[in-house]
Amino acid sequence: MADPELVDVVVVGLGVGGEEVAERLAEAGLSVVGIERDLVGGECPYWGCVPTKMMIRAANALAEAHRVNELAGSAQVQPDWAPVAKRIREEATDTWDDKVAVDRFTDKGGRFVRGSGRLDGPDRVRVGDQVFQARYGIVLGTGTRPSIPPIDGLADTPYWTNHQAIEVEELPESLLILGGGAIGLELGQVFARFGVRVTVVEALDRVLAIEEPEASEIAAAALRADGVTISTSVKVERVSHDGQHFTVHAAGGVQLTAEQLLVVTGRRAHLDELGLETVDIDATQRYLPVDERMHVTEGIWAVGDLTGEGAFTHIAMYQAAIVVADVLDQMRRTKGGPDPSGTASVVGGAAGVASAVGGAMSAGGATAAPGSVPRADYRALPRVTFTDPEVGAVGLTEKQARERAINVQVGYTDLTSSTRGWIHKAGNTGFIKLVADADQGVLIGATSVGPAGGEVLSGLVVAVHAAVPLSQLRHMIYAYPTFHRAIEDALRNLK
Ligand SMILES: Cc1cc2nc3c(=O)[nH]c(=O)nc-3n(C[C@H](O)[C@H](O)[C@H](O)COP(=O)(O)OP(=O)(O)OC[C@H]3O[C@@H](n4cnc5c(N)ncnc54)[C@H](O)[C@@H]3O)c2cc1C
Repeated sequence: MADPELVDVVVVGLGVGGEEVAERLAEAGLSVVGIERDLVGGECPYWGCVPTKMMIRAANALAEAHRVNELAGSAQVQPDWAPVAKRIREEATDTWDDKVAVDRFTDKGGRFVRGSGRLDGPDRVRVGDQVFQARYGIVLGTGTRPSIPPIDGLADTPYWTNHQAIEVEELPESLLILGGGAIGLELGQVFARFGVRVTVVEALDRVLAIEEPEASEIAAAALRADGVTISTSVKVERVSHDGQHFTVHAAGGVQLTAEQLLVVTGRRAHLDELGLETVDIDATQRYLPVDERMHVTEGIWAVGDLTGEGAFTHIAMYQAAIVVADVLDQMRRTKGGPDPSGTASVVGGAAGVASAVGGAMSAGGATAAPGSVPRADYRALPRVTFTDPEVGAVGLTEKQARERAINVQVGYTDLTSSTRGWIHKAGNTGFIKLVADADQGVLIGATSVGPAGGEVLSGLVVAVHAAVPLSQLRHMIYAYPTFHRAIEDALRNLK
């Protein structure tokens, strides 16, 4: 066994979060080893955000074309999956090849190692026969994998996860989707719009259960309008496959059959693979807890889905910026003096990252000084389900706010009755729902559903994040006739 090799930082798992940390630290002049066992970039570019949004773009184009009949004459639409599959293969994923991403990292000075990394004591990482010793720290960004429920028979069937659903070249005639969360609904609507007979099976009593009930209703109605069957409160007891078809056997003798089965019932971190026992950390936890600077323990940071703070690319990037700033800060303090590394641009770079993080910095933005690293703040965590209509949400739902015994006010307005909604006509369903803390006079949550629900959300995220007083929100000017102008109506309806 070779002696450990001393480097500045080791990053294990180069998904969205790990890649960002590794690249920025390498760019800053540190010697960084980045370890990835599959594809650099992780789930988002190859089997997540990017290809699904390409699918959605295509499916929405079909839906818009159908709306011509209501608005502008007549259009005949012939869906064809081939260009979508081609675009995902060629434009999004380079046929699931990460050469561009690996080169981007190594061009910045990083050293790339393909393999599975695991901790081997407080400052060491082992990859096969190689051991790296980290001078300043280790960053874990190993993400999650699909969580497959322990349903009788399921493991013996050739079910799909998001990977097969995104790699598919020829669509099945029918598809059962286990899981009515964001991913299940997005993919269900896409495939239905391309002619697949889709059934979404959800164990809870509504789809999109983490969002406002009004959002669940509107999303379910939209999918039904696309021909999707939505079955809620289904307790699946067994799954079988006869070589051609899947059958889901549910309580009460219910049986659902389709050519393909997609399982999207959540994601799970695999802490048991990370050697956490070598640093006295419980590997049986669901996620790896971190503090507000992403510290797991002395000298070890974690970023992204692994931390359980919300499985979104924007969370991974947000956390990565904090890790970069904190590692650089630690390096400065270890070496002594304000910038002993001679990497003045690093200080600027770290501050730049910190400012990209936004208001997580201390008030006044005085974060460039050593020791002043932004801290994670998830109060205004935005999330978007890219169904048509889009469901955007930030902060607390009404129920969550009431459970916290906050003096809640709620304001709601229907998008169809707004000027822009009325003009838009076909495909105009949506609403704005605001959740306010009446005592503080600020918004603490909001939901924006509509044709541009995710974009309309941005103003609401600023309002929640910066705790903009309701009085100010009521007395600002909203452009006419935009969808976001409905926010003004919802504010007026707060009670
Ligand atoms: C279908 C789908 C759609 C999505 N859509 C969106 C969206 O629209 N917007 C959004 O914000 N988010 C979306 N997400 C979520 C987003 O993809 C994740 O939040 C994001 O990828 C998390 O990044 P990460 O760096 O934490 O982990 P990952 O992207 O999971 O990357 C972790 C990496 O670590 C590697 N790894 C694991 N263990 C080891 C090890 N021991 N050694 C070396 N390497 C290891 C893995 O191979 C992987 O490449 C979607 C997810 C899915 C599945």
